[in-house]
Amino acid sequence: MEIIITIYLAILGSVIGSFLGCMGYRIPNKIKTTYPSSFCSSCKKPLKWYMNIPIISYIVQRGRCAYCKEKIGVIYFICEVLGFVLFALNYILFKFNLEFFVSTIISCVLIVTIVSDFKYYYISDRVIIISAMLILLSYFIFLDSSEIITRVASAVILFLVMFGIKILGNSMFNRESLGDGDIKLMAVIGLSLGLFNSFVSLFYASVVGLIFSIITIKKNKEGIIPFGPFLLIGALIVIYTNNIVGPFLAELFSIE
Ligand SMILES: [Zn+2]
Repeated sequence: MEIIITIYLAILGSVIGSFLGCMGYRIPNKIKTTYPSSFCSSCKKPLKWYMNIPIISYIVQRGRCAYCKEKIGVIYFICEVLGFVLFALNYILFKFNLEFFVSTIISCVLIVTIVSDFKYYYISDRVIIISAMLILLSYFIFLDSSEIITRVASAVILFLVMFGIKILGNSMFNRESLGDGDIKLMAVIGLSLGLFNSFVSLFYASVVGLIFSIITIKKNKEGIIPFGPFLLIGALIVIYTNNIVGPFLAELFSIE
């Protein structure tokens, strides 16, 4: 039974990943999320159902539009694969516990943000609000009210801290240091992880972001690295490694 649920969630994840990747393109370009149905972004022709099968269509069509043969961004394929892998992984690790819902919501935000932030330097408020509401909803099911209040307070504190860092950074470097989207995203991460773990996730995000910027240094002529996806990857690393690294960190910083 476990294996059937895992496969089902993986397939569902690839479908949702495909949809979210598409949203990551539509929201910054101000295209309605429900209409028109999927179309090729270069020739604008609507896609037939068999051109729209997650993962498989991209491989069969060798990454090109079936009509105009224009390349489809590999980023959309990555979204589908990420949905497939993360949904399955979240279930294997957490079954249907609270962590499953939190990590899956964060995974979904990651997939939209990979497209919207990498391609358009845009993090959608709508995505932030919907994800925060979904996380709160799962808290109402799994947590008692005092824990919910702690998490909400963590979100507010992180938002304020990041906002403070932004103001400080702007005045020190005389340019935009942190995007507003990153700050709002950090509030969602605060809500998901609590205060201490959010700072741990910020550390992971910086390491992964640094490695990424070193690898892509030749390609990246503008020198702008969108930080949103890395914040979310940092949060996922914390959720995935918390059982192993958590007790060690708690002892290191003597947190009960
Ligand atoms: Zn086309």
